[in-house]
Amino acid sequence: MDKKFVFMFDQAGSSEKELLGGKGANLAEMTRIGLPVPYGFTISTAACNAYFEAGQVISSQVEMQVIEALQTLEAKTGKRLGDPTNPLLVSVRSGAVHSMPGMMDTVLNLGMNDETVEGMAELTNNSRFAYDSYRRFIQMFSNVVLGLDNYYFERHLEDTREEKGYHSDTELTAEDWKQVIKEFKTIVLTYTKKSFPEDPREQLFLTINAVFDSWNNQRAVLYRRLHHIPGHLGTAVNIQSMVFGNMGEDSGTGVAFTRNPSTGESELYGEYLINAQGEDVVAGIRTPQPIASLEQDMPDVYQQLLETCQLLENHYQDMQDIEFTVESGKLFILQTRTGKRTAQAAIRIAVEMVRENIMDKRHALLRVDPDQLDQLLHHRIDPEHNLTKLAAGLPASPGAATGQVVFDADEAEVLSKDGKKVILVRPETTPEDIHGIVASQATITSRGGMTSHAAVVARGMGKACICGCESLKINLDSKQFNVESTTVKHGDTITIDGTTGEIFLGEIPMIEPELSDEFKLLLSWADEETKMGVRANADNSVDAQKALEFGAVGIGLCRTEHMFMDSSRIPTVQSMILSETMEERKEALDKLLPMQQQDFETIFETMQGHPITIRLLDPPLHEFLPDKEDLLIEVTKLQMKNADASELQEKQNILRKVRLLEESNPMLGLRGCRLAMIHPEIYEMQVKAIFNATANVMKRGIKVKPEIMIPLVSHVNELKEMRQLVNQMAEQAKDETGQEFDYQIGTMIETPRAALTADQIAEKADFFSFGTNDLTQTTFGYSRDDAEGKFLQHYVENNVLPRNPFVSLDQEGVGKLVESGVELGRKANPVLKTGICGEHGGEKESIQFCFDLGMDYVSCSPFRVPSARLAAAQATIRNEQRKAMKVPQYN
Ligand code: ADP
Ligand code: MG
Ligand code: MG
Repeated sequence: MDKKFVFMFDQAGSSEKELLGGKGANLAEMTRIGLPVPYGFTISTAACNAYFEAGQVISSQVEMQVIEALQTLEAKTGKRLGDPTNPLLVSVRSGAVHSMPGMMDTVLNLGMNDETVEGMAELTNNSRFAYDSYRRFIQMFSNVVLGLDNYYFERHLEDTREEKGYHSDTELTAEDWKQVIKEFKTIVLTYTKKSFPEDPREQLFLTINAVFDSWNNQRAVLYRRLHHIPGHLGTAVNIQSMVFGNMGEDSGTGVAFTRNPSTGESELYGEYLINAQGEDVVAGIRTPQPIASLEQDMPDVYQQLLETCQLLENHYQDMQDIEFTVESGKLFILQTRTGKRTAQAAIRIAVEMVRENIMDKRHALLRVDPDQLDQLLHHRIDPEHNLTKLAAGLPASPGAATGQVVFDADEAEVLSKDGKKVILVRPETTPEDIHGIVASQATITSRGGMTSHAAVVARGMGKACICGCESLKINLDSKQFNVESTTVKHGDTITIDGTTGEIFLGEIPMIEPELSDEFKLLLSWADEETKMGVRANADNSVDAQKALEFGAVGIGLCRTEHMFMDSSRIPTVQSMILSETMEERKEALDKLLPMQQQDFETIFETMQGHPITIRLLDPPLHEFLPDKEDLLIEVTKLQMKNADASELQEKQNILRKVRLLEESNPMLGLRGCRLAMIHPEIYEMQVKAIFNATANVMKRGIKVKPEIMIPLVSHVNELKEMRQLVNQMAEQAKDETGQEFDYQIGTMIETPRAALTADQIAEKADFFSFGTNDLTQTTFGYSRDDAEGKFLQHYVENNVLPRNPFVSLDQEGVGKLVESGVELGRKANPVLKTGICGEHGGEKESIQFCFDLGMDYVSCSPFRVPSARLAAAQATIRNEQRKAMKVPQYN
């Protein structure tokens, strides 16, 4: 039997998402539930992939199946494509597996030509409507299929409105539209050198091609990269009979969310336009009405919509984003999908759906994306500050942002690459502006509503956004906007609050975030699910305090070099490095000792008995000395002005030492434990400080659990020697302070050799902490700074690497070393504790990986602790689901 590429909405197999895309699968499912969905069929993603493989050609097999499906559709509707007396009109809609709102193309009203438009006019007894639909079709088809810029058509429309003295398109009469259509066709002829295709079958297949092609348009590619959607999936194409929201005052079109996507409140949320077609609402060209007023405008429709929303939400067990159209008082549902939402809304919806018994806690935990939670830990506008409010619009996406005003997406991108913070201000946005929205801190539009593309895209990315701020009079030519008598120019700084929709002049101070009660509740559910602990990386008591507040169970990485970097200590650290004799060096170290000891005492007190992994000095010493080039300039200047000899000599001395310490490859040079193998006195001082602090704090009745971590071990002999050093210092401290204490000694596994010989190393270690930043550097042979600056972006954009391995752990390569490290280590030392520190410790996929290896904890920056707690719980739940042979559910 032939492979099946085309599925009617009511046919078996038509709700498989992978094959039919999210839109197609849900249209089929809604059809089967019995909802009012205009009938149609879906061409599968497999057909799209076959199309690309064949060099952008639709096979005759697919073509035949489409024609057959079309005949079924014609039979069911009693209309025929191209029939002058009773024409079928269809929409041809893109729809991928993962929803990509507005990124690909759709054509409405297909089947219109000079003959069918007459038929439509007669049939509906509404010629204004028929010609309005025809002109919409010409414009959309020309744009999507023929590649003509919308601008030509929009400009002509604008001229017509002006000439006739109309304010909106709904005022144009049938005769006006006829004239416009003539002009539109001239535009097509002028710019494409061909006349507009009148044959509906030709229109249909050209559009199917174009929709397939739109899978690879620039904005779709960018969107996929941002959301890590693979490029090989392809889009399905949905062909569906049209229903008309532009039939008059008892028709309309809109978008509804079953809950508020910004706050999560359980209320019908959305917008609609009377006498309009779908694109009018989502394109942000006319500012629509809030859904609540539909209750007055069309009470029956409103009631039916409310019930449908409830039904869909219960059916899919999640908040839905629904597109609907009303044709002469009758409601049709055109799309449903899981609604994109802010982090705040995601949490509230999850918590309330558990309370409403729509789902259990475990499902609720899986519904929230850990990556999104970062949004809630961003700064807020300081409410104590005196604010000069400029204007207010619709609060389309929460969060606060400050930046310079720009009016163009390309410019926003350029400036942000230069490190500038910008806010994009546009009359409206189109999906072509997505790169500008990405590059900006926030987006403001003067037209368009909460469901416009700008708002949907911004919410998905957690960027603040204000829409429909109509008091902003934007002048793109003079690059400025006015609010009454105030003028804000290009480059001026403004601050916005996307939570309230307010815009302020100038820069406003921000304050630290706090966890909401619902957030805390959700995280407490998360902690109940998992045994894997989440620790934080913290080098001082402020960060340690934050870590505890956010629910960390300990510190997984306390970097001691940050204590050396403090400006008041740098002179002492430098004199330690510059000392010529052992006496001089010991003297400097003696000065550092009480300072380090004080640091540890405060951290130990803050942590109140929670474990702390302290890593001894790691960077090469020259990092604490001035830059060589700066020194050279200083020395030259001193020489030129014949400065005081001793001053010159001092500088020259430092320069000499800097040269001496210079390495051709510092990342692989004298650092980590190698430094201590050559200069043990540095670690001796640090360990002494740690143990003295331990004893002192314990004497105050506070528990202390220090875990001493030796960095950059690659051979067990290094650890053997360091272990001895630490044990000796411990004995000494116990003697001197008369205080008993426990401690552990472990190592970072951050070189391939350490991972490969982990069994030997584990015999000398109480714990392993995988330092996956350095392990990634040494496994790939990349230096991170050079890689990120010079070639990694190119690699990711061109699919040489699927992701930046410094952001998401490279499981295939680096992961193998981690896996072997854990296994070998555990075999040699069954009580070995294992964890991961470094950026990967806060990233959800890496967390899942660590969980699957059976690690005891992950450690990440304090601000990522909440999302890591959720990710750890999800890893646990998914793992159990897998064991129970259920398909893991993700998003
Ligand atoms: P997108 O993925 O960009 O949202 P859609 O394929 O959903 O594109 O189409 C955009 C809009 O076109 C929809 O919101 C809907 O209002 C309108 N539309 C699509 N198909 C039909 C149809 N068969 N009848 C009436 N309107 C339609
Ligand atoms: Mg849609
Ligand atoms: Mg390291």
